[in-house]
Amino acid sequence: MNININRLMESMETMWQIGATAKGGVHRLTLTEEDRAARDLFRQWCEDVGLSVRVDDLGNMYARRAGTEDLPPVMLGSHLDSVPLGGRYDGPLGVLTALEVVRTLNDHGIETKHPLEVVNWSNEEGHRFNPGLFGSSVAIGTREAEVAFTAIDDDGISYRDALMRIGYAGEIANRPADIHAYLEIHIEQGPVLEAENIPVGLVQGINGQFWREVTVIGRPGHAGANPMQGRADALVAASRMVLGLRELALRSVGYGVVTVGKMSVAPGAMNIVPARVEFTIDARAAGAEDLATFDAGIIELARDAEQAEGVAITVAGTEAYPPIPFDAEVMNTIREAMVTEGLPVRELWSGGGHDAGVVGLRWPAGMIFVRSKDGLSHAEAEYSSPEDIEAATNVLLRAAVELAR
Ligand SMILES: [Zn+2]
Repeated sequence: MNININRLMESMETMWQIGATAKGGVHRLTLTEEDRAARDLFRQWCEDVGLSVRVDDLGNMYARRAGTEDLPPVMLGSHLDSVPLGGRYDGPLGVLTALEVVRTLNDHGIETKHPLEVVNWSNEEGHRFNPGLFGSSVAIGTREAEVAFTAIDDDGISYRDALMRIGYAGEIANRPADIHAYLEIHIEQGPVLEAENIPVGLVQGINGQFWREVTVIGRPGHAGANPMQGRADALVAASRMVLGLRELALRSVGYGVVTVGKMSVAPGAMNIVPARVEFTIDARAAGAEDLATFDAGIIELARDAEQAEGVAITVAGTEAYPPIPFDAEVMNTIREAMVTEGLPVRELWSGGGHDAGVVGLRWPAGMIFVRSKDGLSHAEAEYSSPEDIEAATNVLLRAAVELAR
């Protein structure tokens, strides 16, 4: 029994038409008209293969294929929303491969003990309504519903109103009560698998992460009248920290990464010594020890930069998420499916957050990565080959059947 890759890619193509951009990407923000159209299409496809679709109060959609016994479902899926000018694969691949698993089981008349549910989680990306992942996190109970419902977009429209507008405000009773196991296919969004020429990866867990906001206060001065000695240049101090952060990450043993992606310089004039710099730090690692090392290292770098440059530095921000390892048994099931498929088993941590990580906080979850061309994602040029997708979907099929049997 194998999945039908042509049918799957045809569905991917059709889904891609909704919000398709001129450069081959997708622009399908949460709860927009495009999102509504994607949801309608998904619902239609589900109903076409005999699934019953229910929608919860967050707008999450669950399409159920009955099992032979009254047991909690094996859930498969991902999200249909995208970032602005995003790619075709991030999200829909997980939803449509799940649907392809159901279609394949139907083709072969195979029943499972546990029901199967294909899920489309709302607002994974968190671009229009911040923060992301709140479809899954509210549904499984790690975030308060009010945080989601009162989130406001740039036009002042609330999540609740947007949900009503597209007709996808469902019932709270439709949230999952119990999940036997959760599986998600997603593109890797990084370069690791491609570099090693490996089509499919077994995800060990979701990196832990935290964010900091750093403010450096120096002293403004005339760029010509102030000698180099005795300046309190906020940007020079910030630069010391940026380079130090890179060293810190390079020394980490696990999959540690630290990124300064946003910085502002004031007064911001060519001929004035920078008086104030603000920048962000995004730190991620698979191990809690690495995260603690990063946390302490940031403070140490700030103190060093203060002393060296005569500035004052404050580090703020407490938003932090611990690493989430995936379920050992679910991982084992995926591993065996990969071996059956003749695939090398490469295990890796996910640098990005995913619904699977959220579900994994409460129920057994696992994740399968598909190689990304050039490691590209959140970009219109995002690409994974049909061959790699086929291999991953066959792994998903076997793992799902094994878990639901
Ligand atoms: Zn995604």
